[in-house]
Amino acid sequence: MVEPLRQLRYPSAPHPPDKPSLALDHVTVQYDGLKALDNVSFEVEAGERVAVVGPNGAGKSTLFQVIAGTLRPSTGTLEIFGHPPGGHICIGYVPQRNQIDWTFPVTVADVVMMARSGKIGLFRWPGRQDWQIVRGALKEVGMENLAGRQIGELSGGQQQRVFIARALAQEAEILLLDEPLTGLDTPSQQNIFEILDRLQARGVTILMATHDLDQAASHFDRMMLLNRRVIAYGRPDQVYTAGNLIATYGGHLHLLPDTTAAQGSTFLLADTCCDGAAEPRHTKHSLEKG
Ligand code: ADP
Ligand code: MG
Repeated sequence: MVEPLRQLRYPSAPHPPDKPSLALDHVTVQYDGLKALDNVSFEVEAGERVAVVGPNGAGKSTLFQVIAGTLRPSTGTLEIFGHPPGGHICIGYVPQRNQIDWTFPVTVADVVMMARSGKIGLFRWPGRQDWQIVRGALKEVGMENLAGRQIGELSGGQQQRVFIARALAQEAEILLLDEPLTGLDTPSQQNIFEILDRLQARGVTILMATHDLDQAASHFDRMMLLNRRVIAYGRPDQVYTAGNLIATYGGHLHLLPDTTAAQGSTFLLADTCCDGAAEPRHTKHSLEKG
């Protein structure tokens, strides 16, 4: 009698080792007749770390919502470990900051415990093991001492770590992080990368939307340049070219000769505006001439 009940509580489908963790095939999403994603196809192997880069309105958040199963594509299909989308408790989703109500009165531990609902089932209270997992997840991100704090009282970096802990408590195998580094100082960003390194070492697939082109090229196995369509997808050394960046950012990217560096070097000035930032952020990137 125990086994069927277990299966009811743990509805996750088996993950065949020969299947990519994620496969999108000609996915299009339309809002009010406008295409937010246009014919998007790509695959991610299990354990890979992918940066999703593109200007505001490029469809990064829409893409993550499709993968998380909270938004259905207008056309096209996607598979998570070879299975159709929806109901995957193996996907941890850390939404963009502006999609979270930070004034909502919940503690850090409450937020992380929310992740257990898919595992516990609807009709059971969290047990000792669930609390242990929540504590372990908070420890993993260095937040165990702040478990009783209101989520709104934390710094931006701490808030991101709580949401990563929530994905850990969910035992996520795919982690979607929507601009988690925006507005964080360098030590907080580093801290998050250290956590991601540990997760990746355990085989977790990670997709992160980011505005930082240099970081995307240096800290990820693959890079996607997105502007409704996939402009380029692959290893950063193949994708991170002036031509691809111009195709992605259009008029928001300025190429300047670098007079201070070795000959043949170019500065890229991308005026990407991050949500929640008071001013558009101008970032300066050096790039070898291709
Ligand atoms: P990004 O995360 O790259 O900034 P989004 O996925 O948020 O891009 O948005 C892509 C496009 O879809 C934008 O033009 C945006 O205005 C539009 N959009 C996003 N969400 C909605 C929605 N719920 N209803 C209508 N349009 C939307
Ligand atoms: Mg977004």
